[in-house]
Amino acid sequence: MLGIYVHLPFCPYICPYCDFAKWPHRRSAAKRYLDALCSEIEAAPAAQASSIFLGGGTPNTYEASQIGALVERLRARFGARESAEISVEINPELVGAGDLRIYAGAGVNRLSIGVQSFDLAEIRTLGRRHTPAQVAGVVAAARRAGIRSVSLDLIFAVPGQSPASWRASLIAACELGVDHVSAYGLTVEEGTRYARWREREPTAFFNDDREADLYETALEVLEAAGFEQYEISNFAKPGHRSSHNANYWENGEYFGFGVGAASYRDGERSVHTRDLEAYLRAASAGEAIPGTSERLEGAARAGEAVMLALRTAQGVSFAAFKDRYGLDFISFYRPILGRLVEDGLLDIGAAGARLTKRGRFVANDVCGAFVMFAP
Ligand code: SF4
Repeated sequence: MLGIYVHLPFCPYICPYCDFAKWPHRRSAAKRYLDALCSEIEAAPAAQASSIFLGGGTPNTYEASQIGALVERLRARFGARESAEISVEINPELVGAGDLRIYAGAGVNRLSIGVQSFDLAEIRTLGRRHTPAQVAGVVAAARRAGIRSVSLDLIFAVPGQSPASWRASLIAACELGVDHVSAYGLTVEEGTRYARWREREPTAFFNDDREADLYETALEVLEAAGFEQYEISNFAKPGHRSSHNANYWENGEYFGFGVGAASYRDGERSVHTRDLEAYLRAASAGEAIPGTSERLEGAARAGEAVMLALRTAQGVSFAAFKDRYGLDFISFYRPILGRLVEDGLLDIGAAGARLTKRGRFVANDVCGAFVMFAP
């Protein structure tokens, strides 16, 4: 498995909670970026991709014809077969039925729509400008265009959100008949406008207990509607799990192209610079992209793999862990397993370990214990 991630960093406006590598859209910068990106892609080593993901930013600030051409270039460059999952993230107010037909014609078979909420007040609080009616229109148009899988992103613990409005958003997503939902708790990142808001008015934000209640509502509503939870934040109808994301959680390899993009190859994780000018200069000149890299070895590499596997529904397989890292999971992690099991956070069976329902609410803490573990 090899995933290809391509970062398209321009957005029509900047959301107040966003910490991604992104810039306001300007046509000249976007064109220059696309040229640099294509140079970087051409300079990459030969490989066969099992999935391609165009994320951002807002990829559909580019014309549909540019997205179609980029997808075709990536498919040809990385020998992606017909069966490869090819996803594009989109903002629902910037895409028309004709655009989706162009995407589908280029081989896009999965759409990930940044909806966040179906409540207009919450959508505006999040700095977004679309309407629920536009989302419904995009889902219907994606179906008509023949795009196989349609996914929505939703956010909970938004200031001003109520348990009832969150439930209503989940139900609205289910009623649209989408195949996949990603439900994320709002994270307030340092340096964002939301961080400054929380400093001024901490009570506007959810505490952990109230946020856990909303997460539980997501599990209940989505599972009742026929979605399987296959990762902490991801829910799919049968046959619609994202293989691109599954590859990350299985600690598979991926190439990342574009400013701020991450790659993982041969045990080495590298991240491109978030300095747009530095990226453009290097990529256009065919030079190595500045950034950081680290080689994970021993306990750190194993801990990272456990963290990723525990986020999934199937959890850690002892046999696969032994195969890959040469370690017996139970003996290696014995010093921390007892407490996690006693606290009701981790379930240990004969063949593997996974988070309990309670453990899923505090997944970052449980996973952190494995990442930090040093024998
Ligand atoms: S659209 Fe996405 S990437 Fe762009 S500013 Fe908003 S959250 Fe960030």
